[in-house]
Amino acid sequence: MKLIIASNNAHKLVEIKAILGGCFEEILSLREAGIEHETVEDGETFLENAAKKAREIAAISGCCALADDSGLCVDALGGAPGIYSARYSGVHGDDKANNRKLLADMADVPDEQRGAHFTCAIVLARPDGTEVSAEGYFYGVIAHGESGANGFGYDPLFYLPEYGCTSAELTPEEKNRISHRSQALHQLVEKLGAE
Ligand code: IMP
Repeated sequence: MKLIIASNNAHKLVEIKAILGGCFEEILSLREAGIEHETVEDGETFLENAAKKAREIAAISGCCALADDSGLCVDALGGAPGIYSARYSGVHGDDKANNRKLLADMADVPDEQRGAHFTCAIVLARPDGTEVSAEGYFYGVIAHGESGANGFGYDPLFYLPEYGCTSAELTPEEKNRISHRSQALHQLVEKLGAE
């Protein structure tokens, strides 16, 4: 069976293909499948946004489609930036500006209140209308400055006390073993295996 991933993000594609490779005969990105489509992400939760993306691509392609939606939820900011993580600073996908805003918003927050987690919701939508979903979480604290050059997004500010570094200082392999996306994907594989 063929699976289309509703994304062109290289980081996500590598991770998703590595974990779901055994479940599908062929896994294609939107670009590889020749699909040009932008879903309007107007859901109120990660799960709603992921489901909308997956359903639209399944309907367009007639194949199984997998979509994820993820973001950073900061305790001291009441869960913000949450579903608005990619455009926290106002410009979609400007990681540097997003990180600057997060540091500024957290400037007066003491160490013991800097807890945060990444959330990832994953939805697999089939052309027959059935769906399987999963959610994963990755816990850390917001650092006082950026460290590390790996990863993307908020990784340079996401400090992992048990590793003594930020998630931007982990190798891609280390991060992919423990990340919110990896946990959601492994849960999805388990659910598919149990069907
Ligand atoms: P989306 O799931 O592609 O919409 O990602 C939303 C945003 O959440 C990204 O632009 C990043 O800012 C942030 N984000 C999601 N996952 C990660 C991660 O693993 N590391 C750092 N930032 C992330």
